[in-house]
Amino acid sequence: MKEPSLPGTSLQRACRLLVAFCALHLSATLLYYLAGSALGPPGSPEPPPRRPPPANLSLPLSRPPPPPAAARPRPPPASSPPPPGPCPEPSPLLVGALRVEFSQPVNLEEVARINPEVKAGGRFAPKDCIALQKVAIIIPFRNREEHLKYWLYYLHPILQRQQLDYGVYVINQDGEEEFNRAKLLNIGFAEALKEYDYDCFVFSDVDLIPMDDRNTYKCYSQPRHLSVSMDKFGFRLVFKGMGISRPDAVIGKCRMIRHSRDRKNEPNPERFDRIAHTRETMSSDGLNTLSYKVLRTDKYPLYTKITVDIGSPNS
Ligand code: UDP
Ligand code: MN
Repeated sequence: MKEPSLPGTSLQRACRLLVAFCALHLSATLLYYLAGSALGPPGSPEPPPRRPPPANLSLPLSRPPPPPAAARPRPPPASSPPPPGPCPEPSPLLVGALRVEFSQPVNLEEVARINPEVKAGGRFAPKDCIALQKVAIIIPFRNREEHLKYWLYYLHPILQRQQLDYGVYVINQDGEEEFNRAKLLNIGFAEALKEYDYDCFVFSDVDLIPMDDRNTYKCYSQPRHLSVSMDKFGFRLVFKGMGISRPDAVIGKCRMIRHSRDRKNEPNPERFDRIAHTRETMSSDGLNTLSYKVLRTDKYPLYTKITVDIGSPNS
């Protein structure tokens, strides 16, 4: 007896096909599953399209330190030089002891020529640094042209080496009345302040020349008497509780131009009595009662000359 082959064979074939289809389906399901888990849970919304990150976040969070200044690219050279700093203290331009003599006559045009940095009216300020003080130098004056020439000849180079922002004010008493030095100094103080915001005032006689440029014409924390060796006047300031600080005797040495006593400048016969009463009179005698009239102001190349009518002796 013969087994029926065809139906068996076709059944086998159908079974194989079914198995192959199942395997295919299984592997397709498996593939789909794997791919789906990588993209997110099925059913989750589509992720938004990726935007490029902002530029500043594109750097790593811990940045490396910036390169040292020297390695950074240099800015283009500035058109103007940096502003100057304060002048050094003491001035590096000082030379110390000076030879002072009055044998040769002085020509003021020549003095102006050798001091080209001094501006009209006798003004100067250092170019390369900011002066530590703005100093008005006040000279009481009448009829002492020759002394003034020496003063200007010696003092301008010294004051420039001291790197001061300064102005020279010659307060010229008009008329033939008694010479009033103290009043001229007060007038000089008031007039100089009208011109510039000076923060220091040096009162200098026209015939006193310092013999050492370390004797700086500037103010210290206390009023300073610059001509130690010519100490003839007691400053009133002492009574106001302000002492006078003195440079040491060598630096403070001044040379005085010898001269005869001027007419109308005789020693005041009342001077000892007046000085003895300074404590009572000083508050009503000075800047708060100052009356005078400026007759003219001349701006010469090396100084400012203010000619004043100081009024009658008791005004
Ligand atoms: N002074 C002046 N003309 C005079 C008298 C005095 O210019 O007729 C000024 C000048 O600055 C002088 C200062 O006042 O240096 C002091 O006067 P003086 O020199 O006569 O005093 P002493 O020599 O006695 O210190
Ligand atoms: Mn004198």
